[in-house]
Amino acid sequence: MLEKLEEYHIPQTIAEAVRLLRRRSGGETVAITGAIDLHWWRLQSARRFVDTSRLGLDRIRLDRSGLHLGAATLLADIVTSKVAARFAGGLLVQGALGLASPPRRHTTSLAALLINAVPVVDILPALMALDAKVRVKGARQRTIPLTELFAGKGRTVLDRELLLEVVVPKPRGRIGVALERHALTPSDDPMLTAVATVQLSRGKIARATIALGGGLSVPVRCPKAEAELVGKAPDLGIFACAAHGVAESIHPISDTRCSAEHRRDVCKVIVRRALARAAGREEPR
Ligand SMILES: Cc1cc2nc3c(=O)[nH]c(=O)nc-3n(C[C@H](O)[C@H](O)[C@H](O)COP(=O)(O)OP(=O)(O)OC[C@H]3O[C@@H](n4cnc5c(N)ncnc54)[C@H](O)[C@@H]3O)c2cc1C
Repeated sequence: MLEKLEEYHIPQTIAEAVRLLRRRSGGETVAITGAIDLHWWRLQSARRFVDTSRLGLDRIRLDRSGLHLGAATLLADIVTSKVAARFAGGLLVQGALGLASPPRRHTTSLAALLINAVPVVDILPALMALDAKVRVKGARQRTIPLTELFAGKGRTVLDRELLLEVVVPKPRGRIGVALERHALTPSDDPMLTAVATVQLSRGKIARATIALGGGLSVPVRCPKAEAELVGKAPDLGIFACAAHGVAESIHPISDTRCSAEHRRDVCKVIVRRALARAAGREEPR
């Protein structure tokens, strides 16, 4: 596993870690959190590592700007966090629990999910629906909306940058949230997951967000359908119409679990249900 190892650094500061990641000479240097991906194909060609364990990136905290989840936060930490449980109706805890295997929750960091752009883990569409951003540091520090982080299957727009944290802004006013996943079994990866948030004002939809994960190449938001909901009364017909529009706009994959066409059909159902539940108009099942 480590036969190609040439250098292993354990920097004590973020500045030092970034300097190591940005070196041009001697081949690529990669950041590692738990280094689990050394067992997978993903890190097997890497030779120079920067261990992030001393950088304090494993904290969860709430301040006036929102919820801060350090890049090294494990899904298991989110599941047990009281702060996360109270934030946005516990949506992120539900998203973390979507990875049903406790051993995997204890070995999977947010950094890994984000850097690998893993679509099948419910927490990514949950973060996306809540307008999360990532804070990264390379030549300079920058903040990137999660919707702009993924460059395609398994790829991000980062360039030798260290992922510091995910920041989820505090929702303004009361919002309803809902996550609907469709999977072959409760512990299987989802064929599709839909997350919705809805804010109502004077009986109309003031703002809605819809994010999808699961059988897509990367998690996505659905801005067109979101915009079309604004100003409408929150009834089931409107939500069915929005879900139909979302199903037409996505590019699901076909795999061993089901076909792309089936995923489109699933999309129509779970987006409608997620919107209805987020708006407090839960439909009878
Ligand atoms: C039992 C088991 C089953 C699994 N099954 C699957 C599966 O079916 N499908 C699947 O896709 N994965 C699977 N995984 C892998 C898993 O989802 C995670 O990819 C892995 O656990 C992440 O390890 P990590 O948190 O130690 O990240 P690491 O291995 O340390 O890093 C993961 C990636 O993120 C980068 N990185 C880490 N930290 C930072 C940072 N701060 N800034 C910038 N880049 C960073 C690394 O360079 C690397 O590219 C499985 C893992 C286990 C243990």
